[in-house]
Amino acid sequence: MERHDFIEAPACAGVLNFRSSRAASRRRAGESNDRQGEDHLNNVIIIGSGCAGLTAAIYAGRANLKPVVIDGFEPGGQLSLTTMVENYPGFPDGILGPDLIENMRKQAQRFGAEFKSGAITDVDLSKPPFKITAGNDTYESRALIIAAGATARLMGLESERKLIGYGVSTCATCDGYFFRGKDIAVVGGGDSAMEEANFLSRFASKVYLVHRRKEFRASKIMVDRARANEKIQFVTPVVVEDISDVTKGGVEDMTLRNTETNQTSKLPVEGVFIAIGHVPNTKVFHGKLDMDENGYLITHHGSQTKVPGVFAAGDVQDHHYKQAVTAAGSGCMAAMDAEKFLEAHPDR
Ligand code: NAP
Repeated sequence: MERHDFIEAPACAGVLNFRSSRAASRRRAGESNDRQGEDHLNNVIIIGSGCAGLTAAIYAGRANLKPVVIDGFEPGGQLSLTTMVENYPGFPDGILGPDLIENMRKQAQRFGAEFKSGAITDVDLSKPPFKITAGNDTYESRALIIAAGATARLMGLESERKLIGYGVSTCATCDGYFFRGKDIAVVGGGDSAMEEANFLSRFASKVYLVHRRKEFRASKIMVDRARANEKIQFVTPVVVEDISDVTKGGVEDMTLRNTETNQTSKLPVEGVFIAIGHVPNTKVFHGKLDMDENGYLITHHGSQTKVPGVFAAGDVQDHHYKQAVTAAGSGCMAAMDAEKFLEAHPDR
């Protein structure tokens, strides 16, 4: 996985002339140049505290916008669920995902970002200021950055959840490198599973492609490519009943049940990659923002959504790259877009 390192760049040009003449007269009168704090109206609320949200918070903080970050139900996002991150630029020896997230959080706090816990339960984007509800708490904001991420779909096994980061992974790009010379399994029958199996065959000695049906949702070309790879062995039609060994804190084997014969068997592997899709965390935006057929937010001109003043960043709008560094990059874009927007709409 990846992350964004802090560059001591000059403050964005928009910061100093951020406000209108109204703001200038406030400054002359010794008042804040910022409506935030006067009437509890926030400049920008960032939904989500993963890589995209935290990068947006760093940039918005440095732009003096005093961003408020609402953590969401998974503070830190997917990085907080991973172990060593080796492909985030700036860390030649790698960094633990949770440490990276913690560093980014501190960095955002250093620039004045405020963090609130809670998951968003409702939003009103019909007119400014936007109203954001998180349980019993309601916030108002002039601009909104949605960086709520996407959640990797899991099979729902307790052992799977307990072994995430300890042999079970939802990201081949992030973790494949750790499985050099090992036998591993990829679960799923879509394009992601095929792609990940092929990618992982560069490192692993053997990749079992474990799928619950004999037919595949993946495109034919992807299936053919995987079948042609001599390191990949298809195991179908099976469902995964368990992954062990939780007590040892690592993966030793999977228990599989053949759906035709109902027989169970053990498949010895040292790693399990779950590639059964992602679910973008966009439920509260249904009917309010444009989404593709899988629920990912649609952005244009950088990070803009169809509602002026609402921006989206990270995995909530990206089903393709899904990397920490790309999420960070889009978080930066969203903060800069929000800053520009607020500068152009001082009376909002
Ligand atoms: P997907 O197409 O929705 O496939 C998910 C797979 O996981 C299906 O085979 C499904 O099985 C299986 N699955 C779902 N829930 C499961 C469960 N609880 N237990 C076991 N298996 C389960 O997801 P995806 O592969 O992530 O692809 C998402 C989108 O991205 C697709 O549109 C895909 O084409 C695209 N994509 C494209 C590329 C590429 O072109 N290079 C690469 C990656 C992804 P069933 O089939 O039995 O339902």
